[in-house]
Amino acid sequence: MTIALKNLPQIQTLLTYPAIAALVDLFSHTETVDALRGVIADLRAAILAEDAALPDFESAVFAATVLHRIEARRAPSLVPVINATGIIIHTNLGRARLAPEALQAMHVAGESPSNLELDLGTGKRGSRHTHVETLICELTGAQAAVVVNNCAAAVLLSLMATAQGRTVVASRGELIEIGGSFRLPDVIAQSGATLREVGATNKTRISDYDEAIDDTTAALLKSHTSNFKIIGFTAAPDRRELAKLAKQRNVILMEDLGSGVLIDLSPYGLGDEPVVGEILKSGVDLVMFSGDKLLGGPQAGIIAGRRDIVAQLKSHPLMRAVRIDKLSLAALEATLRLYRTPHDPLRDVPVLAMLSEPIEAVEQRAREMMQALWDVGITDVDLHNSTAYAGAGSLPQQDLESYAVSVSVPHLSADALATALRKATPPVVGRIERGHIMLDARTVTAPEVSLVARAFARILTP
Ligand SMILES: *Cc1c(COP(=O)(O)O)cnc(C)c1O
Repeated sequence: MTIALKNLPQIQTLLTYPAIAALVDLFSHTETVDALRGVIADLRAAILAEDAALPDFESAVFAATVLHRIEARRAPSLVPVINATGIIIHTNLGRARLAPEALQAMHVAGESPSNLELDLGTGKRGSRHTHVETLICELTGAQAAVVVNNCAAAVLLSLMATAQGRTVVASRGELIEIGGSFRLPDVIAQSGATLREVGATNKTRISDYDEAIDDTTAALLKSHTSNFKIIGFTAAPDRRELAKLAKQRNVILMEDLGSGVLIDLSPYGLGDEPVVGEILKSGVDLVMFSGDKLLGGPQAGIIAGRRDIVAQLKSHPLMRAVRIDKLSLAALEATLRLYRTPHDPLRDVPVLAMLSEPIEAVEQRAREMMQALWDVGITDVDLHNSTAYAGAGSLPQQDLESYAVSVSVPHLSADALATALRKATPPVVGRIERGHIMLDARTVTAPEVSLVARAFARILTP
């Protein structure tokens, strides 16, 4: 072993061999040296562990090992993944799938110059917000609207522009953390406003808000408790009461909706999430919601409401720092257009289509997945009833009926199989339940079924 370790060549020596020098020419000195260091380190570990023999360092075979390593490092980092988790809007997997119309709009906006900030009527500088403002107003009944980078930025901008140096009243039951260290109290602090907490975790009354308002108060902030629910002995004033109070006391009522829906989903048995338009109608002055949650569009933060407040946001210095980029704006406009006739958002917006897909169709796809796995030699597969979720804090109370396929592979634990699936091309992400990998068919599309099977085939015969 010591002999073998001693005979590991210097990197400088390796670089003089023609096959390695060719890699320097093809790629770069840095990449080749990095790859050589990696290969030698692996070799050293192998020698220590199992007394492996030294390869012929001048051979084409050794150069191929180095080439492979360079190529692996050059491969794209962001790659498509099969979402078999049953969570439709999965934040770690990129949230909403976009509609073909939105993808097309991004393509066009990326490929060619556009009238992003040019008024084609007057030839003067225009505003990027005009491209979606009318649509948002039409779909929500808002007087005005503006879009930013995401909902977190929407909340920050709204608070900063309306309440900096003043106080914001919020219920203790709604001081949420939504993950990724977005905590409402911290965001309020960041905005330069002072939080005045009212009520108790489970109960807040309108009188609590009333008593907290003084001449430093700028706004009442209501928030969607996206990812948790307090049940039992609870109370919170409804929006109309809050709106009435805000008006009487001359403060703004704003609401962080998080997900936000533009159409009533309750007829489809999908919860009782209030529609943005209804929320504005009940007297809320300003609402903020995400573009890539239930709306089914790109990452964006939509702010809709009173014209005078929106105007304040548009001219605030932070606006520039949180503005939406042209690709997202293009995708957002295209997505919003799918909410207009003759489109049917339940059919044309992928998130909503997946959410409302009839259980029979999900079962059918689960059976197709079982068959495809059988076809590549996986015999330990089973069909199960499953529960899928909207995800990303959307419709938190809503269990979605679904079907999942459980899969086992001989000599692989569920954890080892999950790891192998994540490393497959494309990676497949499922869930582990009762010691089995479960692939939920609600979030896997028909064309992806064969990709799942292919990933398993490669695991069986690498
Ligand atoms: C998801 C969410 C946000 C943040 O939205 P992003 O678009 O991810 O920035 C803010 N508030 C609530 C209540 C949420 O659910």
